[in-house]
Amino acid sequence: MTNFKDEYKNRITFAIISHPDAGKTTLTEQLLLHGGVIRQAGTVKGRGSNKMASSDWMAIEQQRGISVTSSVLQFDYAGKRINILDTPGHEDFSEDTYRTLMAVDSAVMVIDSAKGIEPQTKKLFEIVSKRHIPVFTFFNKLDRDGRDAFDLVDELEKTLGIQACPMNWPIGSGQVLQGIYDLQHDKLIRYNSTKTIDQSVYDESMEEIVLQKDAGNQFDESKILHGQQTPVFFGSALANFGVEEFLSEYLKYAPAPSYKRTVDHLEIQPDNEQFTAFVFKIQANMNPNHRDRIAFVRIVSGEFHKGMEVTLARNAKKLKLSNVTQFMADERENIETAVPGDIIGLYDTGNFQIGDSIYEGKQTVEFEPLPTFTPELFNRVIAKDVMKQKSYHKGINQLVQEGTIQLFESWHGQEYILGAVGQLQFEVFQFRMANEYNSQIIFETLGKKIARWIRLDELDERMNTSRSMLAKDRLGNPVILFENRFALTWFADKYPNVKLESKM
Ligand code: GDP
Repeated sequence: MTNFKDEYKNRITFAIISHPDAGKTTLTEQLLLHGGVIRQAGTVKGRGSNKMASSDWMAIEQQRGISVTSSVLQFDYAGKRINILDTPGHEDFSEDTYRTLMAVDSAVMVIDSAKGIEPQTKKLFEIVSKRHIPVFTFFNKLDRDGRDAFDLVDELEKTLGIQACPMNWPIGSGQVLQGIYDLQHDKLIRYNSTKTIDQSVYDESMEEIVLQKDAGNQFDESKILHGQQTPVFFGSALANFGVEEFLSEYLKYAPAPSYKRTVDHLEIQPDNEQFTAFVFKIQANMNPNHRDRIAFVRIVSGEFHKGMEVTLARNAKKLKLSNVTQFMADERENIETAVPGDIIGLYDTGNFQIGDSIYEGKQTVEFEPLPTFTPELFNRVIAKDVMKQKSYHKGINQLVQEGTIQLFESWHGQEYILGAVGQLQFEVFQFRMANEYNSQIIFETLGKKIARWIRLDELDERMNTSRSMLAKDRLGNPVILFENRFALTWFADKYPNVKLESKM
């Protein structure tokens, strides 16, 4: 039997961050093909939740009871056990997406080489960059006419504020794609080796490569591991070109599971004997016959054994972990053991909240709270049936606690306002209120707002205007919801001494 201390070192737990359509699904599929999990492309596609409208997504979740297989994929490749955590983009974009990034040790950033850095790439990059975790870049769609490689690398560095280190360099793109040049091993990898090489494209690229070698950033593993430099690869996920080269370099440098900090500023290392873990996501069972939910748990240290007893740090409650699922090779199966870096799914009947820490034994371990994200979209919420106030309030409170959505109230406390980072959060909330709490709700759209917290002693009722709405958060702290940037600037000019915080 292998020891968990050896075993966790072969775990690679990561997420792919990208703007919709950059090729995340296609690349994931290629990785699964390389890992022997699927035999043919097109398996993940069409099933991926970002390929469907959110209503379809929910109908499907409902039919299947629960769908978690696409949230975490685990497979073995070249002696490593790989855990890919899904971060849906598009209309599925939500706080869940952000929180999932708290459970990975590295990220792969996929960029469409015809488009460069797009808004959602930037948003997601900022989240991982705050954690200083390694990011590996894959410029995709090289089989299409793309932008100049220097341009792309330059934009990456400027827009994201990270050093780039090209690992390979494209020789042409689209119709004239000749191949990539592996800068680390000084090797040409042909795209179509049966064609004769286009000498003029080749010569031009070779000049660039010389330039790149001379003036480009030096590969620096330590910088990569601290998130200060990103290795850059070019390729085509669809054509399966450059994918294997990317994968082998990625697996060489991607970090093994790392420590996590506690509220007492201790660093819990993965080889610590004590089993510790935290909940980063809760997915409700959409099947009304089974009220249970799945808590997604990232193991930080020690070894998980099925049936073990743990303590929930928030309330010191003891729990036996017997109903557990893992996400091996696209099939959910019951598991016996798991190690740091692994994600396990715990069937939950309402014990867990997002951010919860669990630990084995007597030594209390409570991890730093997961960050909260400033909501950008707001809706007033009203119960359709005034006779059902009790279930309405219960539903709101539980779903807010679970982290589904953020709750605010108008300053004088007459109405509930919900805040989210993505539209889907509202839809899930409405659906679950109806299904789980038998409470029909109506939304009144407030739309996009800029939320800024202020101090209670600086509050002035006159701040409540049509363009700056005064509200309070769940804990009663005053927050102003600004109509737009102008309203925010106008306010800052008018009240120069009031400090505006984007977070509580
Ligand atoms: P996602 O939204 O990031 O998951 O993107 P998908 O993987 O679904 O890809 C979006 C579209 O781009 C699909 O039509 C893919 O077939 C296409 N695509 C993905 N990778 C490539 C590539 O390397 N080359 C070309 N030409 N198309 C690609």
